[in-house]
Amino acid sequence: LRKIVIVGASLAGLTAAEKLRELGYDDVLRLIGDEDLAPYDRPPLSKEILRGDWGIERTLLRTPDHYRDLAIDLQLKAGASALDLDRRLVTLQSGETVDYDALVIATGASPKRPAFLGGKKGIFYLRSAAESVALRQALSARPRIVVVGAGFIGMEVASAAREMGLDVTLVESQSYPLCRAIGPAFGSRFAEMLEAAGVKTRFGAGVERVQGRGSVEAVELSDGSRIDADLLLVSVGSAPNMEWLRSSGLQLNNGVICNEHCQAAENVYAVGDVASPFDKRLRSHCRSEHWTNAIEQAKIAAANILDEQQQTSFAVLPYVWSDQFSNKLQIVGSKKSDDAELIIHDKNPRRLAALYRSGNTISAVATLNWPAFLARGRAMLRENTVWHAAVEALTGNGSNGSLQV
Ligand SMILES: Cc1cc2nc3c(=O)[nH]c(=O)nc-3n(C[C@H](O)[C@H](O)[C@H](O)COP(=O)(O)OP(=O)(O)OC[C@H]3O[C@@H](n4cnc5c(N)ncnc54)[C@H](O)[C@@H]3O)c2cc1C
Repeated sequence: LRKIVIVGASLAGLTAAEKLRELGYDDVLRLIGDEDLAPYDRPPLSKEILRGDWGIERTLLRTPDHYRDLAIDLQLKAGASALDLDRRLVTLQSGETVDYDALVIATGASPKRPAFLGGKKGIFYLRSAAESVALRQALSARPRIVVVGAGFIGMEVASAAREMGLDVTLVESQSYPLCRAIGPAFGSRFAEMLEAAGVKTRFGAGVERVQGRGSVEAVELSDGSRIDADLLLVSVGSAPNMEWLRSSGLQLNNGVICNEHCQAAENVYAVGDVASPFDKRLRSHCRSEHWTNAIEQAKIAAANILDEQQQTSFAVLPYVWSDQFSNKLQIVGSKKSDDAELIIHDKNPRRLAALYRSGNTISAVATLNWPAFLARGRAMLRENTVWHAAVEALTGNGSNGSLQV
C-alpha cells in the first residue's frame, strides 16, 4: 500500500491514522476533514465547554507537532463530495480528486433537524465546536430554554443550563428519559434528578410547532399546551454523514454497511459514528454513536488494512458514559427495548445500578456513580454469564434488587 486516505478528521479518523503508524505503515497518509479545527473531542462540548469550565482549545485532541511527527497530512476545510470505487478516487468539494490504495470512511454523524421546526433564530443543535461555543454564548444572555429530546446530549445540556441557574424545560415524547439506553425504572431516577434540580419536565409530549416571528417565542406541545421560550436546543437523534457516498455503490442503510472486519468494499473501511459493521455477538449490523466505539473500530480497521491474511473481527462490548448534575452514568452492553430490568440499590443513596436481561443472559449493565459495580458487570457480560448466576454474583444473594419488566 502506498497511499491511505482517511475522510473525516475527528476521533475515529485520527485514531485510525495513529494506529496505522503504530503498526508500521510508513507511506503516504492523508487525513481529510471538512471542519476548520484540527481533530477535537466532542464529549466536553455538552459538559465543560457549556458550563464555561474550558475554552474550546482544550478540546483539541493533539498538538500541531503531533501530525508533523507522525507524517499525517492533515487537510482541513475539505469536504468530500463523492467516491468512485472503481477508480479509487475521492472527489473533494473544491473539485480536487484524491486517489487511494486504501480508504477509511470516518465522517461521523449529524443531528437530525426536523423540517417542521423551521429555521427561527434561537433554535440550536449541538454537534460541533462552533455549535457548542454559539450555544454557550446564547446561554450567557440567560434565556428561557426548552430542550427537545431527553437523550444523552439533551440531558447534559439541561443539566448544564440548570446548573447555570437558567429556566429549563425538558420535553420528551417518551414517558421517561434516556429510553433507548436504559429501562423505565432506572430512567425514572433521572427524571427525579432533573425535577429535584428544578428542571421542568414534560414526558409523553412532543413539540408540534415553534411560535415566534423570526425568533423563538414559545413552543406548542402535542397535548395542546404552550411553553414560553427564548431558546430551543433540539436533540432528537442523529443521522450518519454519508451524502457524499450516495452514488458510490456502497451499501448504505443506517450507516455504511460493513462486515465484521469494518470493511465496506475492497480496500474500503468505515469506522465510528458513520459505520454499521456486522456485530457477531448481536448477529446484526449495528451503528453505535459512542466515543469508545469510534476508537475500537478505528484500531480494528487499521489493523485489517495492513494485514489482509489475519482479519480482526469487531466484537467490543458497547460502552457509554454521561455526566449530569455531578453524577456519572455508565452503561456497558446493549439493552433491547423489551429486556427486563432489575434495579440494584446500595447503602450509598447516590449509587444505583440496573441489570438488563435478554433471554437467559444479561444484555447490559447501567450504573449511577458506581464504577466498581460496572466493572463487575462488564466481566459478566464478557463471559456471557447466565442471568441467575450474574444476579447472584452481582448482588450477593439476589435479594436487594427489584425486578421490573
Ligand atoms: C455534544 C456531544 C457529547 C458527547 N458526549 C459523549 C459522551 O459523554 N460519551 C460518549 O461515549 N460519547 C459521547 N459523544 C459521542 C462521541 O463524541 C462520538 O461517538 C465520536 O465523536 C464519534 O467520532 P467519529 O470520528 O466517528 O465522528 P465525528 O466525531 O462526528 O467526526 C466526523 C468528522 O467527519 C467530518 N465530515 C463529515 N462529512 C464529511 C465529508 N463529506 N468530508 C470530510 N469530512 C466530513 C465531520 O465534520 C467531523 O469532523 C458525544 C457527542 C457529542 C456531539
